[in-house]
Parts: sequence; structure tokens; C-alpha cells
Amino acid sequence: MPASLSITIAGAGIAGCAAAIALAQAGHAVQVIERAARWEFASSGIFLYANGLESLRDLGVLPAILRAGFAVPEGRNAYFDQSGMPLTVTHYPSRDAGRIPAILGIRRAELHRILSMRMQELGVPVTLDASIALLAQRGGRVSLTLSDGRALETDLLVIAEGLRSTTRALAGFDVAPRYSGFTVWRSVHARPAALTDKIMQMGRGKRFGIMPISDDRLYTFGTVPGPKPAHIPRADWPATMAGQFAEFDGPARAFLDDLGPRSEVLFTAIEEVALPLPWHRGRVVVIGDAAHAATPFMGQGGAAAMADGVALARHLSRAAPEPALAAFGAERQPICAFVQEASRRVGELGALETDADIAARNARMRGGGAQAQVDTFYARLTEFERRALSPDFT
Ligand SMILES: Cc1cc2nc3c(=O)[nH]c(=O)nc-3n(C[C@H](O)[C@H](O)[C@H](O)COP(=O)(O)OP(=O)(O)OC[C@H]3O[C@@H](n4cnc5c(N)ncnc54)[C@H](O)[C@@H]3O)c2cc1C
Repeated sequence: MPASLSITIAGAGIAGCAAAIALAQAGHAVQVIERAARWEFASSGIFLYANGLESLRDLGVLPAILRAGFAVPEGRNAYFDQSGMPLTVTHYPSRDAGRIPAILGIRRAELHRILSMRMQELGVPVTLDASIALLAQRGGRVSLTLSDGRALETDLLVIAEGLRSTTRALAGFDVAPRYSGFTVWRSVHARPAALTDKIMQMGRGKRFGIMPISDDRLYTFGTVPGPKPAHIPRADWPATMAGQFAEFDGPARAFLDDLGPRSEVLFTAIEEVALPLPWHRGRVVVIGDAAHAATPFMGQGGAAAMADGVALARHLSRAAPEPALAAFGAERQPICAFVQEASRRVGELGALETDADIAARNARMRGGGAQAQVDTFYARLTEFERRALSPDFT
């Protein structure tokens, strides 16, 4: 059995928190360095499919997540066109004989609150307002100098700093975020009691989604293709969002009409990162968005970040650090590349512009194509996971 290690994690986002919990649960001495001065989280919501919820079960927080979030009954996703005409309904798969719901929406701040409480329970210290200024490796140890001047020695450094990671380059990785060609608008609203489905409206070039995130809240997310826009002042976000989706009627309309100066709105130009293997250099490994940020069309980035943490702890329990890091990358990179590719295709399908393309897509969706796409994606994901868990995976 490999020995307990001292492990430093840079970044306390979803990937960093999940890795901290999984590694502390496995008996390692873990500490986290977070650049933000205050540990507060841009909110709006996030949806987590059954595979992500399974990781949260492994991290010991699933009951708290189920209490705080909203599990969509029967994993229903109702599709409409831009005018609000119904197109089709699909169902996502649940896991563990239905004990793990197919899809759950939750406020991001709640997800982080629950992960941070679990870290506290496990005694994981988090240093805020600090980042890594210098990094050197010698004799199986990583020496770090922090931005506050403090020096640290650690057996293993996990870089979980998101897509704009700075430590990644310090460790010798050469990768940069790439604009995906899409922007996303998100907003939070009161949830009408009857709105319990995940809803997707397929427009001309644009998609607009609605997702319950608690007993009384939902969030919306609308994607727009196009070149990276110039700076849009934050005060203008609600009105700009309403304008971007002005042509949408049906389920979206009430929430677009609800947008006003005090609305909780977020605007993001979506970027991707695709770090080629190996994901480690000696005793330093990159996880989460810093290695594999995807477009959000599959809603799988958070799940992938959590799966990284769980997989990293599993590999370190089986082998010495460097072979374990190599096996970790070999397991996770093909899955993350598959998710990125699937997400890109869904984005392109949602960005169709001509009447003929839109009519053909909608006919395919109505004819069972939308459910087939869900089934194929999750069957493939399960196949990847099964292979990774088999004893002969190297
Ligand atoms: C619009 C949008 C919608 C999305 N919707 C979903 C969804 O519904 N479901 C889903 O599963 N995923 C979704 N995702 C993806 C998901 O949000 C990300 O994949 C996930 O947050 C990645 O987590 P992370 O911890 O790797 O990175 P991050 O969340 O970016 O966290 C990185 C952390 O590192 C810190 N940090 C940065 N630099 C340093 C440094 N130098 N030193 C120390 N700390 C540092 C940051 O402050 C931050 O706390 C969405 C993404 C976007 C953009």
C-alpha cells in the first residue's frame, strides 16, 4: 500500500475541493492554496448529471447535495422551439437503481458551501489570498514559494486553478485557453412551483435553457454563437441578455421579461483548454478546467472536475506517485476529450441558422434522435468508466 503523502492543491474550485476531499479521505495530508482573498463563489446555478452525483456520493456529500438542490423528476428534459412549440421530451439515466437522480440543479454557492464543509470536517486547511510564485522539483519533492513569501515543501502538487491557471506554465506545461465561438448568458429567478423539468428551447443560432436549482429558484442559460465580443459593462448585462433573446417566446418569455437592473445575471465568453498528455511533470499534475475546460453544452465540466479528484485518489492508492499520475492522465484524458468533442457537436447543432437546417434538426429530434443522442453519450461514458475501474487498467 503506497504511503501517505503531503499534497498541496492550488485552486479551491470544484476540481480542487473534490481532489482535497478524495485525497484526505484516502489518508493523505492535504492543504489547499486559493488565490481569491475571500472564498465566495460566482453564483447562478449548475446542473449535475448522475455521473457527477456519483462522484459527490464518493466524496461523502450526496445527502447534503440532494437536500440543497433540485432533482428533476424522471430526469426529464423538455425541448421546445423558439416560439414555444413542443419538440420532444428526453430522459437522462439515473444510477444506483434510482438512488442517484438523473439530473440535479443547484446553486453554485451551495455546491461550494457543501464541499467546503466536508473539507473542514476532514481537517483540510485552506490558505486564501495566496498563489504559487516559484516552483522547483528535486528528489521526489516539490518546493514552492508562495506569493506571500512563505516557502513550502510537498510530495505532490495538484494544479486545479481553472482555465487561466498560472502555475501550469511555471510547471512547464504549454497550453492556453481558446475562445470557443460562443458566449453564454445566465440569470436566476423565482421558480414557479409547476416548473420542474429541465427545459431547452432551440432557436435560430441560439439556445435558451431553464433549470430548477432549489425549491424556490431556477436559473436560465442562453448561448449565442459569434466572435468574442468587446467588453460589456456589468450594469448593462440584464438588458443586453433580454435583447439577445428577444425573439424567444414560450417558456423563456416570462424570465426574459423578469430581467431588470437588480437581476442576478452572468455573462461568459466560453473558452476551452485541451492539455495533451502527459498531464504531469514529475510530482506535479494538472486537473479540472486547467487541463480540459469544455464548452458547457453537455453540462459535464463540473462532473469531470470531480471525477478527476476521485480518480487521482484511486490511482495514488494503487501505485507510487509518478506511475499513479501517468495512469491518472491515461484514464481521464480520453474521457475528457470525448466529452469536449460531444459538447462541441451539441453546440454546433444548436447554432444552426437556416430554415432548412433547423427544420431537419427539429424533425430528427422529434423522431427519437434527441433521446438516441442522450443514450449513446451515456452508454459511451459508462463504457469509459467501466474500463477505467477494471483491474487491468494501466
Ligand atoms: C457558462 C458555463 C456554464 C457551465 N455549466 C455547467 C453545468 O451546468 N454543469 C457542469 O458540470 N459544468 C458546467 N460548467 C463547467 C464548470 O463550471 C467547470 O468545468 C468547473 O467549474 C471547473 O472547475 P475547476 O475547479 O477546474 O475550475 P474553476 O471553477 O475555475 O476553479 C479554479 C479555482 O482556482 C482558483 N485559482 C485560479 N488561479 C489560481 C492561482 N494561481 N493560485 C491559486 N488559486 C487559483 C480560482 O480562484 C478558483 O477558485 C459550466 C461552465 C460555464 C463557463
